[in-house]
Amino acid sequence: MSQNYYKFDLISLPYEYDALEPYISGETMRVHHERLLKGYVERLNLSLENRPRLQKLALEEMLEHACSLPACVKNRIVRNGGGVYNHNFFFSSLRPGADENRPVGPLASEIDRAFGSFSKFKGVFKENAMSVFGSGYVWLVKDSGGCLCVVQTRDQDTPLASGYSPLLNIDVWEHAYFLDCLDQRAEYIDRWFHVVNWDRAAELFLMQA
Ligand code: MN
Repeated sequence: MSQNYYKFDLISLPYEYDALEPYISGETMRVHHERLLKGYVERLNLSLENRPRLQKLALEEMLEHACSLPACVKNRIVRNGGGVYNHNFFFSSLRPGADENRPVGPLASEIDRAFGSFSKFKGVFKENAMSVFGSGYVWLVKDSGGCLCVVQTRDQDTPLASGYSPLLNIDVWEHAYFLDCLDQRAEYIDRWFHVVNWDRAAELFLMQA
């Protein structure tokens, strides 16, 4: 995929900005994609401008092996590369909303097995999303033993650095919901559950089997 290598492009969304209404507004989506993500893409490209060796690496490779990046660009790549990876993942994990929105197939069975039920999973996920202090993300991931778990990352850190295979994430930076829900993160999380792209999470789950 072209968005995985330098020079990075702003991904185009597979839906219109207002397609997630009434759960997430078109204005939130527009600002989030066209301003915030674009800024991360531009700063990542600048960090790599004079780094031909790093330009050959996929974004995921740089983030998985962040500790071996040159010290003088490490922070910039972790922050801006993480900002690109996390947002690309987030926007790809959304779809137009449904009242009843839940996983199907093998992923649904594995969620039941790992968490007890889908509604218990939602409880665990929401509790994690509520307890991120400051800015970050919450993820449904597969660990190296193949088990599902819910993990938090801070700022623009990624779960790749800890060896997890991500299936789904929610952005809980305040910019993701302030226009729609002010400071009410709980309200935003409840709305987000309606626009989760479970088909994509299920595909990733099977690919990483
Ligand atoms: Mn964001």
